[in-house]
Amino acid sequence: MEKHSHCCIICNEERSIGIAICNQFICDGCEQEMVKTDAQDERYPYYIKQLKRIWLKKNA
Ligand SMILES: [Zn+2]
Repeated sequence: MEKHSHCCIICNEERSIGIAICNQFICDGCEQEMVKTDAQDERYPYYIKQLKRIWLKKNA
């Protein structure tokens, strides 16, 4: 199978496994982290901020 790597918008690492939302890529690791990250977690606002970039790009 051919592997495509994408730059994850959360960690900025090149990854081949993950999900694409609106042409933006989130790697498997970050997706898992986001799923289990509690809203009280200090990283949560960072994830939201990165995700907002997706929506902003989508609406641009
Ligand atoms: Zn990532």
